[in-house]
Amino acid sequence: MDTLQEILKDTAEYIAWKLEEGETTAEVSPSVLLELAAGSQPTKQTVAAASSAKKSSTVAPASTGTTQKTASVGTGEKVAPDDDRTKKLQVLAEDIKSCTNCPLHKGRIQAVPGQGNPNPEILFIGEAPGADEDEQGLAFVGRAGKLLTKMIEAMGFTRDEVFIANVNKCRPPNNRKPMREEMDACLPFLRQQVAILQPKVIVALGATAVEGLVPESSKQRISALRGHWLSFEEIPVMPTYHPAYLLRSPAMKKPVWEDLQAVLQHLGRPIPKRGASQ
Ligand code: SF4
Repeated sequence: MDTLQEILKDTAEYIAWKLEEGETTAEVSPSVLLELAAGSQPTKQTVAAASSAKKSSTVAPASTGTTQKTASVGTGEKVAPDDDRTKKLQVLAEDIKSCTNCPLHKGRIQAVPGQGNPNPEILFIGEAPGADEDEQGLAFVGRAGKLLTKMIEAMGFTRDEVFIANVNKCRPPNNRKPMREEMDACLPFLRQQVAILQPKVIVALGATAVEGLVPESSKQRISALRGHWLSFEEIPVMPTYHPAYLLRSPAMKKPVWEDLQAVLQHLGRPIPKRGASQ
């Protein structure tokens, strides 16, 4: 059963992420605040509504992004001509960049197909591009992206050895949560990416990414889902917290590291001594 602490934690995660993604304001509806203050158990819908509500309090803008130096696929960079997967990913990226299958194309600067190694063991999946990603055309840049890089390196990988993408390839207006219809419109692209990449494991970053991949999980909170294997296109999925949440809640680095260790164990990889917080 959900506890007030879990509800607060999930709400805080969503708001913290939006702030890290470049939002300048945030607002929670009075009704939800009253429910939380009373210690009741608001529904997922009310929490989601609060998280996606119009914004009002000013916060610092997100920082600029991480520099990628190799193997970026879907970003226009040159790649090995003899790599069949790379060619397929490039063709798919062009389809994504010209896609108008859902309303999110109207507000984007550019679609963000994702980037990384065409033969990855691990595919990291987030929710959707934020302001920095929309501007740079790369997934997971900015402060959250830098922390994701640290998480990847703590696992014994480099960022160039994995693939990083989002459920939705275009930035939602004001960084709101993508609607289910928008996720469904975009999921065929992710299915094609998974079919090409054939990762051994998918790591789903944050509640919305998990919901996008596994819709039936939407009734559970990320605090309950994390650490427990799910499945997408018959690929094992490990849900964990979004890096932006860790920026605001460093104590959650410990459970995230536990989740990443489970991924390493699944891959038969050694567990480095350093943790995700390094
Ligand atoms: S979010 Fe996905 S489905 Fe919607 S326009 Fe962008 S690429 Fe197309």
